[in-house]
Amino acid sequence: MLVDFSKHSSLGLGISAEVKIFDREELGLDIDYKGLKELGLNYLGKFNFIGRGNNILVYRGEKLASLKGFDHILDLGNLIEIGANVKSRDMFKYFKEHNFIGAEFLAHLPGELGGLIKMNAGMKDYEISNMLHSCNINGKWVLKEELDFEYRALKTKGAILAARFLKIPGFSKNLEAICLKMRANQPGGKTCGSCFKNPKGNYAGKLLEDAGMKGFFVKGVGFSEKHANFLVNTGKETNPDIALEVIDLAKAKVFEKSGINLECELALL
Ligand SMILES: Cc1cc2nc3c(=O)[nH]c(=O)nc-3n(C[C@H](O)[C@H](O)[C@H](O)COP(=O)(O)OP(=O)(O)OC[C@H]3O[C@@H](n4cnc5c(N)ncnc54)[C@H](O)[C@@H]3O)c2cc1C
Repeated sequence: MLVDFSKHSSLGLGISAEVKIFDREELGLDIDYKGLKELGLNYLGKFNFIGRGNNILVYRGEKLASLKGFDHILDLGNLIEIGANVKSRDMFKYFKEHNFIGAEFLAHLPGELGGLIKMNAGMKDYEISNMLHSCNINGKWVLKEELDFEYRALKTKGAILAARFLKIPGFSKNLEAICLKMRANQPGGKTCGSCFKNPKGNYAGKLLEDAGMKGFFVKGVGFSEKHANFLVNTGKETNPDIALEVIDLAKAKVFEKSGINLECELALL
C-alpha cells in the first residue's frame, strides 16, 4: 500500500512510500501468534514498523510495514495484555477506569502501543516501560528484564505485536493533572514533539536555545518559539529534506556552542 507520509505524520513532512500491511485477521495470527511460524519468526524483524506517525520522518522509506488488527485489551488475571494498535488514549482510559498505576502520562501523548514501547515514551520519570511485564516481539514473549530499554528507546529490535502490564491499583489523578499542566506549555499544530533526546544532565531545549536555534525556521520548518526542542511545521511544505537540513544545522550549532552531540529522538526512516 502506498502511503503519503506528509499526511501520515504529525509533522506533515515525508515522502510517499510503500508499506506492507500485516493484518492479524488475514494472516490468521492467533493470540499466541502461532500463525507467524509460517512466515518464520524473524520475518517481521526485517521491516521498519510504523505506528501512528507521531515521531517519524520518512525520507528514505525503506522496508516499511504496519500492523493491523492488534487492537485488543485483555485482562489476564494478574496482567493486562494490550495489542500494538491500541491508541495511547484508550490505554489511558482503561487504566484510569480500572484504577491501575502506569498510564497517567498518556492522557495527551499521541501514539499507539507499538510506537510507545519502541520509543519508551514518557514524561519526566514516568515511562511506558515502568509497569511493563513483557513484550511480544516478532511473535515471541520476552520478559522486560531481557529487553534493552533506555531513555526514549527500546534498543531490542523487531516488531512489537503486544505487551503485558502489571495490574497495580492506584491510578493517580494528581499525576494526571501534573502531566496535563506540562502539556499546556507545548506548541500545537503540525509537530513531532521533541526532536532530540535530552543528553544526560542537560536539556536539549536549553542547548538549542543557547545555540540560537529557538525560533529558527527554514521554509516554515523549525524549532518552536514556545518550546525550543519541539520541531514544528508552520507552513505547507511536505518535503522531509527541509527538516533534515534544520536538524543537521541544529546539531552543528549545539556542538559548536557546547561540545555536546545531540541525538535525534525523532525516528528518521
Ligand atoms: C504533540 C506531541 C507531543 C508528544 N509528547 C511526547 C511526550 O511527552 N513524551 C514522549 O515520549 N513522546 C512524545 N511525543 C512523541 C510520540 O507521541 C511518541 O514517540 C509515541 O510513542 C509515538 O507513537 P506512534 O504510534 O505515533 O509511533 P510512530 O511515530 O509511528 O513510530 C515511532 C517509532 O516506533 C517504531 N514503531 C512503531 N510501531 C512499532 C511496532 N509495532 N513495532 C516496532 N517498532 C514500532 C517506529 O519504527 C519508529 O521508530 C509527542 C508527539 C507529539 C506529536
